[in-house]
Amino acid sequence: MTARPTVVPHVTTWSGEKPVRLRELTVRPDGKGLGYRHEQPGDRDAHGVLWVRLGGEPGTGRPTYRVMHSERQRRTMLDLRCQICAGPASRTAQGWLFLVAHTEQQIAEAGGTEDMLTMQPPLCLPCADTAVRQCPRLTEQYTAVRSRKPVLYGAWGSLYRPDPHGRLAELGDGTVLPYSDPAVRWLLAAQLVRELRRTTVIPLPTELPPTPPTPVLRQPAAAPGIPVPRRPAGRA
Ligand SMILES: [Zn+2]
Repeated sequence: MTARPTVVPHVTTWSGEKPVRLRELTVRPDGKGLGYRHEQPGDRDAHGVLWVRLGGEPGTGRPTYRVMHSERQRRTMLDLRCQICAGPASRTAQGWLFLVAHTEQQIAEAGGTEDMLTMQPPLCLPCADTAVRQCPRLTEQYTAVRSRKPVLYGAWGSLYRPDPHGRLAELGDGTVLPYSDPAVRWLLAAQLVRELRRTTVIPLPTELPPTPPTPVLRQPAAAPGIPVPRRPAGRA
């Protein structure tokens, strides 16, 4: 049974945060990719790829746990910060900590962890502990992976192309493209993708901090000059 979530991850989208209408979307003046009619600083990443715009503020409406907010996902993934608390992600000699929602066997059958693509930003150890107990995606099965070299790969989003009349047609939602692919200029990006290299599968529980002991009520310390009363000898 899944524990009731006690925390809303930093990357979670809220129902009040909705995509800005796509009629702003157009073909770039040079005809070589997507653009907004009125582009603003921050619409494109360092690779020149256009990103979806979201309105609203975090905390408005209800959290939509299964959808990551594109800007917060991108920032945490870019800076390798924890996707739940936005603090520094766990990093050891074996690399940064990522959680994958598959068993080790499923991952092995799919080719192993090396060069695996992920849109899930890393985590710190306390938040990884919370995630595997509360996140429905992970409570059934998960594998903890450390990557010494999680390289920026590309982006996930909706792919567009102009039709013969010059109007934009959506070719497919949920497309992953590497930054090295010229077609990425036609992608409206919504998530940043990293490729995990130099990976090690780790037993997460052995890395977690020990559970704090249950507080024990102690006998109050004696105030100066006043002895703590002793039980009468011979009585339990
Ligand atoms: Zn954290």
